[in-house]
Amino acid sequence: MERTLSILKPDITRRNLTGAVNEKIEKSGLRIIAQRRLRLSLEEAQKFYAVHKERSFFNDLCAFMTTGPIVAQVLEGENAVANYRNVMGATNPANADEGTIRREFAESIEANSVHGSDSQENAAIEIAFFFSELDIVG
Ligand code: GDP
Repeated sequence: MERTLSILKPDITRRNLTGAVNEKIEKSGLRIIAQRRLRLSLEEAQKFYAVHKERSFFNDLCAFMTTGPIVAQVLEGENAVANYRNVMGATNPANADEGTIRREFAESIEANSVHGSDSQENAAIEIAFFFSELDIVG
């Protein structure tokens, strides 16, 4: 069993698609074992995405993540990190496979509906950013 950090981004909450994305997550076999709706400050978004601070889109990405509420989640399942990346689809929705969250819901390469950790090491760091152990009920 493995855990990963998922974020439903502001383009999802704005269009009232939280349940639609959660249905895709649960149908894939992943379990939502913690979930929290919140609004990030710019400072918090910059801290969360600090690994991307040298990238050209860093400022735009952090600003976008503060445009509305997000839903942070812990997902659990076998190979949860890699499995959720498959369920999400490619970063650019134009390249995302049929049936993936991003293919179905993403608006653009930036407003691409979901975040998922890219390694087990980052998953542990990202889960701790949003949740305490007491919040996570497997
Ligand atoms: P991910 O792991 O698939 O989310 O992709 P990355 O780690 O490469 O990028 C993090 C996030 O930055 C993506 O999910 C997008 O929201 C955003 N992003 C990535 N590439 C671009 C880009 O070229 N332009 C803009 N504006 N945003 C981008």
